[in-house]
Amino acid sequence: MESEPRYRRVLLKLSGEALAGADGSGIDPDVLHKFAGEIAAVHHLGVQVGLVIGGGNYFRGAKGVGIERATGDYMGMLATVMNALAMGNALEQRGVRARVLSALPLGPVCESFDRRAALGYLDEGRVVLFAAGTGNPYFTTDTAATLRAIETGCDALFKGTQVDGVYSADPKKTKDAVRYDRVSYSEALAKDLKVMDATAIALARENAIPIVVFSIHNPGAFAEVVAGRGRFTVVGEGA
Ligand code: UDP
Repeated sequence: MESEPRYRRVLLKLSGEALAGADGSGIDPDVLHKFAGEIAAVHHLGVQVGLVIGGGNYFRGAKGVGIERATGDYMGMLATVMNALAMGNALEQRGVRARVLSALPLGPVCESFDRRAALGYLDEGRVVLFAAGTGNPYFTTDTAATLRAIETGCDALFKGTQVDGVYSADPKKTKDAVRYDRVSYSEALAKDLKVMDATAIALARENAIPIVVFSIHNPGAFAEVVAGRGRFTVVGEGA
């Protein structure tokens, strides 16, 4: 039975790699359209949805390429724009109106990020895709997701990952890894729990926005978790 969603407005963060096929790069069309369906399901619940997708499936920084860090980071930000354009289009194909807003001005490609425009689109019921991260090198899309979630007044930041919550160690590698239902920001930072990078967690803590970590691979999981059901870990205050 459907229960009432607990949230009015949420932001979903997906890694770029989540969109990739078995070879870990580019966009797998089946995965793209599956995730578009997950987002559409939450949109149909009447919840306003913002979205940040990473860029790791195309490019993640300068490491190993022999170029300077800032240039590599700009390339990474451009990679996130490609993912946002693809997802925006996949959503529109399902009849879900979507808008891509880029932190780096890209003229004819998509609109530039503007907070008031984003708020207006969210209120109109469009899914807003925040592309190009924060627009600054030396940051990540986890930090961008936290920033956009805070500045657009989201009730929570949802992080769709490969596993169903936060563990004391990688459960795929460590047999006796302990899974948390709730964990505090400070504990996540102190134990380096790999929820998000430290900058993102510190920003979430400072602004008391809960981070809900769940597996994006379980069908229907995003809508379930938004309704407060299913398996997830909440990173929050005094947990
Ligand atoms: N990036 C950046 N500033 C930002 C967001 C992203 O410089 O505000 C760059 C950075 O090089 C990063 C890459 O874009 O490695 C891709 O983002 P991220 O690694 O967060 O993607 P994900 O791991 O979620 O796919």
